[in-house]
Amino acid sequence: MDQQQLDLAKILQHATDILCPICQSDVFETVTMLKKISAIMSPSGQEMVAPLPAYRCVECKHVMEEGDMETTKEDTPKIELIKP
Ligand SMILES: [Zn+2]
Repeated sequence: MDQQQLDLAKILQHATDILCPICQSDVFETVTMLKKISAIMSPSGQEMVAPLPAYRCVECKHVMEEGDMETTKEDTPKIELIKP
């Protein structure tokens, strides 16, 4: 484990757990959603499929969306990571 990983481990000890807004579980698995990009929107000018990583609750299978990340165990202020 290098210094950067140690720092991250230290930061995570003080981080707030994000909970599933449906069942309050705090365990998630990564899933991949696929987005079809139309030729008009695509940077290559051709229709393409882009993978989008997402998190799914292992208990109720709810896929987390951006707004869902606000559900936390404690009502503590958000920690902002300071880049070195
Ligand atoms: Zn859930």
